[in-house]
Amino acid sequence: MKSLLVSSLCLSFCIPLGFSADAPALRGYSSDSARNEREWEAKFRAIPDPANLRAYMQRMSARPHHVGSPYDKDNAEWLLSKLKEFGLDASIENFYVLFPTPKERALTLLEPRQFTAKLEEPAIAQDPTSSQQGEQLPTYNAYSADGDVTAPLVYVNYGVPADYEELDRLGVSVKGAIAIARYGESWRGIKPKVAAEHGAVGCLIYSDPRDDGYAAGDVFPAGPMRPKDGVQRGSVMDMPVYPGDPLTPGVGATKDAKRLPLNEAVTITKIPVLPISYGDAQPLLEALAGRTVPPAWRGGLPITYHVGPGPAKVHLKLKFNWDLKTLYDVVARIPGGAYPDQWIIRGNHHDGWVNGADDPLSGASALLEEARGLGVLLRQGWKPKRTIVLCFWDGEEPGLLGSTEWAEAHAPELATRAAVYINSDSNARGELQASGSHTLEKFINSVARDIDDPEAKIPLWNRWRFFRISAENPSGAAAPADGADRESARNAADLRIGALGSGSDYTAFIDHLGVASLNLGFGGEDRQGIYHSVYDDFYWYTHFSDSDFVYGRALAQTAGTAVMRLADAELLPFDFDNFTATVGRYVREVENLARDKRDQIVERNRQIDEGLFAAIDDPRFPRIAPSKEMVPPFLNFAPLENGMATLQRAAALYGQAFGKAAGDGAAALARASLRDVNARLISTERALTLNEGLPNRPWFRHQIYAPGFYTGYGVKTLPAVRESIEQKQWKQADEQIVRVGKVLENAGEAIEGAAAELKKAVEGKP
Ligand SMILES: [Zn+2]
Repeated sequence: MKSLLVSSLCLSFCIPLGFSADAPALRGYSSDSARNEREWEAKFRAIPDPANLRAYMQRMSARPHHVGSPYDKDNAEWLLSKLKEFGLDASIENFYVLFPTPKERALTLLEPRQFTAKLEEPAIAQDPTSSQQGEQLPTYNAYSADGDVTAPLVYVNYGVPADYEELDRLGVSVKGAIAIARYGESWRGIKPKVAAEHGAVGCLIYSDPRDDGYAAGDVFPAGPMRPKDGVQRGSVMDMPVYPGDPLTPGVGATKDAKRLPLNEAVTITKIPVLPISYGDAQPLLEALAGRTVPPAWRGGLPITYHVGPGPAKVHLKLKFNWDLKTLYDVVARIPGGAYPDQWIIRGNHHDGWVNGADDPLSGASALLEEARGLGVLLRQGWKPKRTIVLCFWDGEEPGLLGSTEWAEAHAPELATRAAVYINSDSNARGELQASGSHTLEKFINSVARDIDDPEAKIPLWNRWRFFRISAENPSGAAAPADGADRESARNAADLRIGALGSGSDYTAFIDHLGVASLNLGFGGEDRQGIYHSVYDDFYWYTHFSDSDFVYGRALAQTAGTAVMRLADAELLPFDFDNFTATVGRYVREVENLARDKRDQIVERNRQIDEGLFAAIDDPRFPRIAPSKEMVPPFLNFAPLENGMATLQRAAALYGQAFGKAAGDGAAALARASLRDVNARLISTERALTLNEGLPNRPWFRHQIYAPGFYTGYGVKTLPAVRESIEQKQWKQADEQIVRVGKVLENAGEAIEGAAAELKKAVEGKP
């Protein structure tokens, strides 16, 4: 049933490269090698066993395993022994990074009455690991500055730039105040950054029950959501500037690396910041007076939310140990037969904030089971063409430390060798969630067609497609499809994948080194409010998430198949048609953004001139009128359009060369030496980077994808252009359009080069 369905889809949509009666074609494979590959992949997919995944998670989550803890090292050594037991060549690579831990934490409400925050997550009787207080990291935000401040409190909603515009209208300033923001909407590190930009002297971040507590579902241990005293730990390092060790930007944090003095590490926050539970937040918020908040700012606590400032006055004192800690990256290598210096890299972190069962062991267990599966195949005689590098990263939670330092330390060899990086992290039940480089969009669609969904018993791809068509949205995880999305999902040969921002270990690979990357996982069905708390543990995961580990097995099957298919292909399966169409959409988006921004400013200036704001103001609840702004110039998008034209021409040329190579059972692929074509394909993603990076953040070199400077995890595509427009830097926007246009032309030339090389190879010319 399944193979019939897959074949008929492929007949109508796929290029018939090496199509044979028994199996659809594999992009980049001659028909003989495709048949062979499919046999090995089928053997591989039969190997992962949910019972193993469960045992791995139980073992690695048995004790807290954060950076610098004894059990973090213990887990790394255990992973190493397992990889060796699977027959793989593995080792541990150490780095030495700044990792602050709390020495002193105090939060007190001084006025109008006294309240001392608990700052503790209590043990829960039926949850055995929640009582390991002696080994747990206290609740805190890593890379908060030290500080001792007493100041009035101001509620700033999610604490994103738009919230401060609203505060301006309300006539409220955070200057000299402590801002209290709720988790959500942006990555947490953005909140203290924006608060400090507006003059706040301290910042509190609390988990509002509306977002992941009792308003969203039953709380732990009755349900999966955040209990009253649950706290979300997490890093507040300014990762949109650069992730990794704050003391060694751009270089690996080896023992003798040159380190910045602490006071020059710009990614540490400017003000002290502390995360708190809603149990601790309620008395503080209740003590605020002043204006009631705009409706969109209301949370789920049984109080009237006020903005402040005052009369609530708060004392916040934080002191940290600013120590270097050792990281344990565990890395296994399977040498390639034909192309040993082309690497397919696969990674997941192993460190957690506390017991970290969901984050990260649900993903790390899948990776370990993939490693076992590959070990079994090797013993049966399988030999990949390319080298496979399997990585268990340490120190992801504090700031992508283990992956970033490894990528920086190995940058010279990765520059020529790294073909693709595939990442995973937390895993749950639901649809396949794939995002990454659009040169790999077609590829990951092909993988998803060959793996079954454990619940729906249909190929992952089919369920993924139905989720895209459906307006139903069981968990709120995915946006409901609008008409255009629905039709595109229904009719397109390939489902669109999202672009990568940040928030996991792919960041250094794609953003810094320009390695084509994918992030894979399942989700959408399980709600959770235990993120980065002591309750993210084996008890929680086996009661409220993928409790029978069948989606863990599906992740091992999906990522493992992707790794094998990339490692064994004669021709790397990059595709430039989907990529070019996607970049074309981004170009139209930034053009529309500039026009809309301009229109909005013109309209608002007109309203100010007309006296609109004074006329409609409510004198009992007055709001301050905005001030007039300079009308932005029209921007010249011609360089981007010209870049797109080059890219489109190059993609068409590659399509032609590929079509020729794919004809006739793709026999030419088996004959030709494709070493140089593959090397050129690898270089196409590098062509999307600039050495000088993005404006004001040179570490981020990719010019198509980057995490937003003011979103943190959320992606900004064509970031240099888009953020210049968003931040109303019109002159810079004009300059960046020229630079990015040139990047598109460079990429076009790189793709054209690959097309010419492929043509030459399959025609057998020297
Ligand atoms: Zn994680």
